[in-house]
Amino acid sequence: MSFTSLRQWLIKLEEIGLLKHINREVALKHELAALGKRADGKYALRFNRVENSTMSVVTGILPSRETIALAMGVSKDEVVERFSKAQANPGECILVNSKDAPVKEKIVYGVDLGSLPIPIHHEKDGGPYITAGVLVAKDPQTGVRNVSIHRLQVLGPNRLGILILPRHLFQFFQSAEKEDKPLEVAIAIGLDPLVLLASQALTPPGVDEFTIASALYGHPLELVKCETVDLEVPAQAEIVLEGRILPRVREIEGPFGEYPRYYGPASPKPVIELTAMTSRRDPIYHTIVPATREHLLLGAIPREAGLLQTIRNTVPNVVSVHLTPGGGCRYHAVISIDKRNEGEAKNAIFAAFSSSHEIKHVVVVDKDVNIFEPEEVEWAIATRCQAGRDVFIVERALGNKLDPSSDDGISDKMGIDATVPLDAPPGRFERIRIPGEDEIRLEDYLD
Ligand code: MN
Repeated sequence: MSFTSLRQWLIKLEEIGLLKHINREVALKHELAALGKRADGKYALRFNRVENSTMSVVTGILPSRETIALAMGVSKDEVVERFSKAQANPGECILVNSKDAPVKEKIVYGVDLGSLPIPIHHEKDGGPYITAGVLVAKDPQTGVRNVSIHRLQVLGPNRLGILILPRHLFQFFQSAEKEDKPLEVAIAIGLDPLVLLASQALTPPGVDEFTIASALYGHPLELVKCETVDLEVPAQAEIVLEGRILPRVREIEGPFGEYPRYYGPASPKPVIELTAMTSRRDPIYHTIVPATREHLLLGAIPREAGLLQTIRNTVPNVVSVHLTPGGGCRYHAVISIDKRNEGEAKNAIFAAFSSSHEIKHVVVVDKDVNIFEPEEVEWAIATRCQAGRDVFIVERALGNKLDPSSDDGISDKMGIDATVPLDAPPGRFERIRIPGEDEIRLEDYLD
């Protein structure tokens, strides 16, 4: 059983007490994001009355790792493995008729973005931003689909500024622009958790991320043809914007409060001109407040899947990996291994650095340490690590440009081996333990 629409997922969240309604009128400028931030990591919010709009807005629909596990139908510990399997074995999508696609209940050709409740999230943001828009495009050369999320700034009633980092969409746009042609795009808003997660998969070029959503579902994702562009979008989406990225047009986009909790700067960026909007009769708008758990975890799970695979090739006895929220779920990796040979921790660190240029600091611990508990990890560093022996630094490697301490993306890397030496005298690192502590129920003893 999988949740194949935002609505189904919201019903589930409501059932388990993880969706709260706000019925007071809320302003789109800052107020909505501030409330979303307050609920961050705890529960999803549904805003039923938003200023100047008849649509309701949801945010925080994946407030924790536990809710991602629930959406995937696995336990919290199995999330990364499950994603990694889906990525290795993509499924197929099926095309449905417009009459069977809820996102075709309403079709509008003269798009006015003012009709959507698009919030301004952070103080210095350049304007309202669409943050949960899953963008679909096709490689102009091969016709293969690509799916990715981009920050989209409202620049006019039917114009969006877009940040395109040098990945797959960037290549598509470059080859279209070289021929002086626009690149057709469609932006789906209001999707279920698994399509959102699949869109973040770190795939080689030529892999359609929607096929990973099908693999996560265990059955085909339903797509429907767009009205004004030659693209397909999820039939169950709440809203779809269709349009074209214009060749040789740039307008100022930014600043924008980003995942490392700093602003990405304003600069000239490509522009999308919208041609149509299709939606459900009463669409629900989804916004992701940047740098919240929802934002960070969507990026973390696919990255952890890649990290685990890369380390496993070098250190087969790796147990688990965690990209921690304090590191923006990008810069800090904690890895646990079942150490068999001295030196393996360092090899795991090298593998982690090679898995992604974003990884900056890596801590390796033994398998008895719970890598999801920051206090446990700190304890391992405090008691199992000697800096002179166990810490090493590589200067001036490639890092992430959004890290403000980097030299325009040139960044130092640090590895910390916090594993117990294999030749330690017996008993020296024995963790204290109270027999029965794990099983005893305090409630049974309280009056
Ligand atoms: Mn891709």
